[in-house]
Amino acid sequence: MSCIPVITIDGPSGTGKGTISQQLARKLGWHYLDSGAIYRVLGLAALRAEVDLQDEQALSQIALELPLSFQDDQESFRLFLKDEDVTLKIRSEECSRAASIVSAFGCVRAALLERQRIFRKAPGLVTDGRDMGTIVFPDAIVKIFLDASAEVRAERRFQQLKKMGINANIDAILAELRARDERDRSRAISPLIPAPDAILIDSSGLSISQVMEKVIALLPKEIMGK
Ligand code: C5P
Repeated sequence: MSCIPVITIDGPSGTGKGTISQQLARKLGWHYLDSGAIYRVLGLAALRAEVDLQDEQALSQIALELPLSFQDDQESFRLFLKDEDVTLKIRSEECSRAASIVSAFGCVRAALLERQRIFRKAPGLVTDGRDMGTIVFPDAIVKIFLDASAEVRAERRFQQLKKMGINANIDAILAELRARDERDRSRAISPLIPAPDAILIDSSGLSISQVMEKVIALLPKEIMGK
């Protein structure tokens, strides 16, 4: 066990956990790990290699050799697959779906476990995902589980896509989101469930700054004072 503090923010997609985690990491001057991005990059690599998304052995081999790197330039967190910046590419619906399929396999998760733990560096780490508080960093000092209704999360995604000039169908978004939730929640390994010691926040009726206020109120004084 390490004495470097970790704050975990788990939950389904569309709850604002990525934005909250990044803002919190900036505020504290800590490192940030977007664990979902790792599974997304693996999904992208598997799609490109035309590997069967049910082939656990082939997927874990890709996971072990994944030429993935992160860059934090204080403006944004960027992700690279070899030399290619895939930060935006991995946000597509296709990669979301592939990520949630490949991440259900135990060998894949095992192959990526240490790559997540090495992000734990001084002065601290804020991380978001599905199993950050349960499996990857069970000794985190604060664990938050951020949730929101499926309808609210689908509407947020719809508005996000609209802003990007992408024409989307809200019913299709809701259906895909529900399917992804179901896969994440019902899988045998590292399912999406709150850690027993996680604090639940429902972001359904809240803005990002209101959620942030709630999160900050939960942090030990010595962290905020640093
Ligand atoms: O958080 P994000 O939506 O980017 O995650 C994409 C997918 O990666 C999730 O639907 C989930 O299946 C998987 N994931 C996971 N464990 C994590 C983070 C993400 O299985 N810690």
